[in-house]
Amino acid sequence: MARLYDSRKRILVTGGAGFIGSHLMDRLLDQGHDVICVDNLFTGTKRNIDHLHTHPRFEFLRHDVTFPLYLEVDEIYNLACPASPVHYQHDPVQTTKTSVHGAINMLGLAKRLKCKIFQASTSEVYGDPVVHPQTEDYWGNVNPIGPRSCYDEGKRCAETLFFDYHRQHGLEIKVARIFNTYGPRMHHADGRVVSNFIVQALLGDPITIYGDGSQTRSFCYVDDLVEGFLRLMETGREETGPINLGNPGEFTIRALAEKVIEMTGSRSTLVFHNLPQDDPKQRKPDISRAKAALDWEPTVALEEGLSRTIAYFNALLPTLKVA
Ligand code: NAD
Ligand code: UDP
Ligand code: UDP
Repeated sequence: MARLYDSRKRILVTGGAGFIGSHLMDRLLDQGHDVICVDNLFTGTKRNIDHLHTHPRFEFLRHDVTFPLYLEVDEIYNLACPASPVHYQHDPVQTTKTSVHGAINMLGLAKRLKCKIFQASTSEVYGDPVVHPQTEDYWGNVNPIGPRSCYDEGKRCAETLFFDYHRQHGLEIKVARIFNTYGPRMHHADGRVVSNFIVQALLGDPITIYGDGSQTRSFCYVDDLVEGFLRLMETGREETGPINLGNPGEFTIRALAEKVIEMTGSRSTLVFHNLPQDDPKQRKPDISRAKAALDWEPTVALEEGLSRTIAYFNALLPTLKVA
């Protein structure tokens, strides 16, 4: 439904009230587009989109993507899905339904509208990887029946559906494999490592390290990630992905804890808990494809991104204590 009179588009963002989605919508609105946010507010919050409610080009629709959705738009970003292990394991059946039925409905919508559709896939498709760093041609090492499977296999099946709609129906698809991303508007209680450590450090509570803290992750600041999304969406139809988007800087979880303590000046101590089942031991993206195809690489160093995120949680803290 391309409008002929200008380059302004009507763009649907599912999961827009979540952490990454809300930053994406800010950028799209800044670019002059109309944005429709579809979210069931399972893990997203109205606080993330409070600043947009009076925006003339913004609309919010409370809706669960596992049900059909009939709208007229020019582009779709499909982000709806809980992303933290605590949240996605809370109702694992709903998590798989969100990834799979949600993908079918959004692909059906894109097929009817003949519009581009972007999928927020994940480094979890690589599972507990034996190839390091992870390249897009690695097929992964995923447990199909464990506590993380609802998310990992749901996202893998969504990728399958995207590529089948592409091959079978000629849909223009853009699949991004997102590695651990952090920044302002992460949910303070969703259990992810960056938000947990910062909130614990600011409150002076013990920092909870799972296992011995030698497992690694690579942390991408949200602004860098969103820039990658926009560049991928702008590519020609031959670029389908999958494309890794993440920051190749790799840190142990223990090193992250120590950095957060140092940066917050906290007196928190480290406490060690059992490592959750199937917790990946290492993760680091190979971003050669993103560099070549999108001329993209992260620009925000961990320390700079953490400092912005600490400032966000610091400001949020008084409201959390009251709640
Ligand atoms: P988030 O939990 O903050 O946001 C997800 C949003 O989806 C929330 O607003 C939630 O309410 C909404 N949602 C969930 N189920 C829904 C449903 N059935 N119908 C409609 N809305 C629904 O998580 P995030 O970190 O912003 O992640 C956004 C996307 O990026 C997710 O698809 C996630 O899997 C993917 N991703 C994120 C990361 C990361 O590190 N943050 C890494 C890999 C992939
Ligand atoms: N769908 C939707 N909005 C649309 C078009 C389709 O939500 O504008 C849903 C519809 O419920 C359908 C799914 O997307 O079940 C897949 O659509 P598709 O056309 O691929 O399949 P079919 O309708 O033939 O089952
Ligand atoms: N983790 C931790 N303490 C916490 C939260 C997480 O040690 O309070 C670890 C977790 O076991 C994993 C890593 O930090 O090894 C990243 O966890 P997160 O839930 O943020 O994302 P994942 O990459 O596992 O999906």
